[in-house]
Amino acid sequence: MADIIKLLPDHVANQIAAGEVVQRPASVIKELLENSIDASSTSIKLIIKDGGKALIQVVDDGVGMSATDARLSFERHATSKIQTAEDLFNLNTKGFRGEALASIAAIAHVEMQTKPEGIEVGTHIKIEGSKILSQEVIAMPKGTSMAVKNLFFNIPARRNFLKSNQVELRHITDEFHRVALAHPAIAFHFYNNGSEVFNLPKSNYRQRIVNIFGAKANQKLVPVDEDTQVVKITGFINKPEFAKKSRGEQFFFVNNRFVKSPYLHHAIISAFEGLIKSGSYPGYFLYLEVDPGSIDINIHPTKTEVKFDDEHTLYAILRSTIKHSLGQFNVVPAIDFDQDQNLETPYAYRDKDMVLPKVTVDAGFNPFQEKTQNHSGVQGYRRDINAKSQGWESMYIGLESEVGKDDEFSSVRFESDVITGSIFEGNQDNIESASTTFQLRRKYIVTTIKSGMVVIDQSRAHQRVLYEKFLKNITIKEAVSQQLLFPLSLSFSKTDIVVLKEIKESLTTIGFIFGTMDGETVQVTGVPPLVAESEVSMILDQLVSDCQMEVVGDNFSQTDILSKTLCKTLSVKTGEILDNASQIALVNDLFACKESMVSPFNKPVYITITENDIDKKFI
Ligand code: ADP
Ligand code: MG
Repeated sequence: MADIIKLLPDHVANQIAAGEVVQRPASVIKELLENSIDASSTSIKLIIKDGGKALIQVVDDGVGMSATDARLSFERHATSKIQTAEDLFNLNTKGFRGEALASIAAIAHVEMQTKPEGIEVGTHIKIEGSKILSQEVIAMPKGTSMAVKNLFFNIPARRNFLKSNQVELRHITDEFHRVALAHPAIAFHFYNNGSEVFNLPKSNYRQRIVNIFGAKANQKLVPVDEDTQVVKITGFINKPEFAKKSRGEQFFFVNNRFVKSPYLHHAIISAFEGLIKSGSYPGYFLYLEVDPGSIDINIHPTKTEVKFDDEHTLYAILRSTIKHSLGQFNVVPAIDFDQDQNLETPYAYRDKDMVLPKVTVDAGFNPFQEKTQNHSGVQGYRRDINAKSQGWESMYIGLESEVGKDDEFSSVRFESDVITGSIFEGNQDNIESASTTFQLRRKYIVTTIKSGMVVIDQSRAHQRVLYEKFLKNITIKEAVSQQLLFPLSLSFSKTDIVVLKEIKESLTTIGFIFGTMDGETVQVTGVPPLVAESEVSMILDQLVSDCQMEVVGDNFSQTDILSKTLCKTLSVKTGEILDNASQIALVNDLFACKESMVSPFNKPVYITITENDIDKKFI
C-alpha cells in the first residue's frame, strides 16, 4: 500500500488552530489587547466597525517589533515570551503559546505596523490567509497597530455563524471590560463605528470600575482585602442589596487574567448566602494573586480556565474573606443568632424577675385603609386604589377612560360578565362566586365556582394580567402615562444607555416618557401608572440586564422581554396581603385574560377542585 500520511501545509494547520483560538471577533480582540499589554503599553486604542466583522484595530504605544520579529510573529509557535518548558511555571505574560497572530492571519486580512524605540522607521506588513502580500517601511511613532479586516473571509461557514452586529458588539464589550478591569494602570479608548464608547484614563481599580460601569457603581462597592501566604485577595464585592437577576457584573481575575472558575465562584456566592434572594446574583470584582508556579493556565487555548494546586484552601480563604468584608462594612446584621442569649444577660439583671413587656395594639388599625401612603404593601391592585383616592388620575395623560376601565374595581362586574369562559359556568353564579374570595397563607386566592372551588396563585395571576396588559399596550401603542412632577435623573453606565436607547421606543409605548439620554444620565419624565417613582431605577436596571441577556433587536422578542420583566417586577408577590376588593379584581382580571391558565413563564396559575374531588376525600 502506498504511504498516505502527509504533513498538513502550514496555512491549513493555522486555519485549524484558528478554530480553537478565534471563535468570534471578541476572541481576536482579546488576543490583540493581551499582546499590547505584554508589550508594556501605557495606552491602548481599540477601534471596531460592524461588530468587528468589518474591522478590528488595536493600536498601542508598546515596545514594538523589529522588521524580522514583525515577520516572524505570524509564524506558528513564534513567541518572545517563553523559551523553555520551565518558563511555563513562571508566567508573567498573557500570551505564551505563540499562535494567536498565526491563527488570526490565517482567517482574515491583517495589516501590521510596528516600530520599536530607537529605530528610525517602522515595518508595515500586509498578510491575507497566511500569505504575505507586502512588507514595506513606514514612518510612525513607537508601538504597534494591528488591523484585522474581513474575519473568516475564507471560511464562509464560520462567517455565517457570526451573530448580528449588536450581539457581537456585546461580546466585544464584555471582553473589553475584562481586559480593562484587569489593567487600570493602562489607559484605554474604545471606538465603535466612529464614535467613542469608552475613554478610560490611567487609574486605580475602583476608579476603573466606576469609569466603566458609571458613577452609581461606586456606592455599591465594598472593598475586599486579604493577604495570606497562599493568596492575596483584593477588589470589591457589590453590596447584597444591589444583586441583579443576571450574572452581568461578576469578574474574577487571577494574576490579572480574567478566568472562569465555577468552583471558586461558588465560594463567593456561598459567602452571600442568606443575604440575597435566590435567583439573584451578587456582583463582584475580585483580584487574586497567587504564585504563578501554583497554577496551570495552559489547559485551554483561550486561557480562561485555570487549574489551581490547592483549590480547597483557596475556596475556604475566599469564602471567609468575603464574609469578613460583608460583616466589616456592616452589610450584615451584627447580631449572632447562634449565640446563647442567656450568656449575654448583664450581671445586674441576672436574678431579677421577668416583667412582661406592655404592648399597646390599636385593634381597629387597618394598614390597608385608604390613608395608606406607602407603596411597600400590596402592589399593583392596592396601589391603584391609592392613586385614585389621591386624585392622581388627573395626572394621567389622556385616555382617562382607559385608566378607569382597567383600574377601577367597579369594573369587576362588567368584566366578569364578559369572561365567564370555562371556569365560571353561567353569569349569575359567576358574579356571586367571584365576590366570595379569601386569601390563603398570603399566597393563594381561593374562590368558589359552580362545580367547586379554584385556588389561584396570586403572584402568577397578577403576572398574567399585567403581561397581557403590557403586550397590548406595546402592540397598539396606547400608552397610559403618569407624568412626574419633577423629572427623575438616573445614572447608568454607557453600555446600559446603549441598550436603553434600543428599547426606548417600546418603553414609551407602555408609558415611560424619557427626556434627554446622554453621557451617563437618563431623564425620566413619565412612568406607567403602576410604577412607583421609587421603583423606576430598579425597573430600568432590570430591563437593561434582561435585554442584555437576550438577543435584542428582534421586535417580537423585545416586546416579550419587556412585558415579562415588567410583569415580574410589578406583580403582587407571595406574602403580600390583598384586601377583599383587590382579590376580586384580580380574579376577574385574570379570567378576562386570553390565556389565564398559565403564567407568562409557563407555570400553572390556578387549579380547580371540584365538589366531586372533595366528596371523594370524605368517603
Ligand atoms: P504570544 O502572545 O503567545 O507570544 P502571539 O502570536 O500573540 O503569541 O504573538 C507573537 C509574538 O509577536 C509575541 O510573542 C510578541 O513578541 C510579538 N507581538 C505581538 N503583538 C505585539 C505587540 N502589540 N507589540 C509588540 N510585540 C508584539
Ligand atoms: Mg498573544
